[in-house]
Amino acid sequence: MEAQLKILNSGIVKCRKCHLAESRLHALPGEGDIKSKFFLVALSPGEQEDREGSMFIGPSGQVLDRLLKSANVERDSLYISNLIKCNLPQNRKPKLLEIEACHQYLDEELELIKPEFIIPLGFYASRYILEKYRADPPSAKVDFRPLYGKLIYAYGQKIFPLPHPASLLYNPDYYPQTQEKYNKLHTFIHPCKWYNYCPMKRFYQQGRLERKWIELYCHGDWQACRRYQMEENHQYHPDNMLADGSIAGTLA
Ligand code: SF4
Repeated sequence: MEAQLKILNSGIVKCRKCHLAESRLHALPGEGDIKSKFFLVALSPGEQEDREGSMFIGPSGQVLDRLLKSANVERDSLYISNLIKCNLPQNRKPKLLEIEACHQYLDEELELIKPEFIIPLGFYASRYILEKYRADPPSAKVDFRPLYGKLIYAYGQKIFPLPHPASLLYNPDYYPQTQEKYNKLHTFIHPCKWYNYCPMKRFYQQGRLERKWIELYCHGDWQACRRYQMEENHQYHPDNMLADGSIAGTLA
């Protein structure tokens, strides 16, 4: 995989498939731990990233570092890439033609790295990833907001859209709620501590429970699981209660 990624990256740095090649200084391939379970997808390199040829080193990178540090997640433990590998002049919006010319690189990176969690940052990356995995993204940008910080399981892939760190440069008041969403990354590092004893594991292994329940909760956002919360509070809950608190008659 490393060798294939090297070949891919050598193609990215020389790419001239679209007109962004004329204004960019560096086309940036992904960076980070290729064995990471987390693959962050941003939109495109900023001005400083373009000049210095490295990912997330400008003002957005400083915000990202702060969010990750508070979430207790090492930046080096992630893989980070962009939907568009070249700088968009004056941070303008991407054009459809530019996404069409470039997304194949991201597709290949995802195919090689096979991350457990894809984490698109902001609207353009989230829309692209949700479309790619047929997760039925909303059409209006404003309707993406409720999706940030929600774990989605689509087409066999866990996707966790997050607000782009750059959004906090314009709206610093959103810092606390954004931090809360980034904190979930730490939850995803380990599966639920109850998994080996939980009836959901047995039902899944018996083929009676859909995989999505395991991926979304037991190996995902277990803090949001109703069973987990009740277990922690020593509250009675029947074996056939699902992670969202509903009762599955078929599991009785
Ligand atoms: S169903 Fe809930 S309590 Fe059981 S293992 Fe999964 S996350 Fe933990």
